[in-house]
Amino acid sequence: MYLVMIGAPGAGKGTIGKIISNELCLKHISMGDILRENIKNETEIGKKIQDVIEKGLLVNDDLIMEVIKERLTKPDVSKGAILDGFPRTEVQAKVLQKHLEDINSTQEVMAFEFVVPEEEIIIRIVNRLNCSNKECGEIYNLKTKQPKQEGICDICGSKLIKREDDTEEVVKNRLKQYHENSKDLLEYYTNTNKLHTINSSNLEIAIDAIKEVLNKKEVN
Ligand code: ADP
Repeated sequence: MYLVMIGAPGAGKGTIGKIISNELCLKHISMGDILRENIKNETEIGKKIQDVIEKGLLVNDDLIMEVIKERLTKPDVSKGAILDGFPRTEVQAKVLQKHLEDINSTQEVMAFEFVVPEEEIIIRIVNRLNCSNKECGEIYNLKTKQPKQEGICDICGSKLIKREDDTEEVVKNRLKQYHENSKDLLEYYTNTNKLHTINSSNLEIAIDAIKEVLNKKEVN
């Protein structure tokens, strides 16, 4: 099963995606993390996208599809995955569907839309810190989930870093991009009966709501 996580920046895709990934034993694939890793390693792709990401714009669909198709051919995702931040446009969603058909995947796609009030989003993002260890990737918040020791990850002891695009100015652009692209994306998943909308203001409640959807699915 491929669970697609859709939501504005800061809506909880990453945090919820990681928890659900552990519970369902499905690999968590964060498109943002893959792209940032490319920038850090100064790959050809990284060089092409750095500017776009810094401005809070979307990377073009062709490049995203190149990256994800390569990732989806790896054996660790043959039974499905949690797709965090991908697809982000209707084009990407359609190409994903086509790609799964092309590789004869029997795995179904389910889409979850996470909704949080916009005021809350800005507060979440400007206070967000991420663990610099990509194997860990724990997410903290200076207001709601402080690390025990300042600047250090509770889980793995690595340094905490602030994403360069987690500033109020860039977040506004990212939100604008989300609203411009998500309408068609959500419509696509609604029309194909794959969309489930989850209120993610509260993490525990959001996770329970996802589990309820998945349990119902199993029963049917
Ligand atoms: P967020 O959802 O909080 O904005 P992500 O880490 O998911 O953060 O993505 C960071 C940036 O990476 C986005 O602002 C965008 O520039 C780029 N990006 C990530 N996923 C995609 C995608 N599927 N299509 C286009 N651009 C993407």
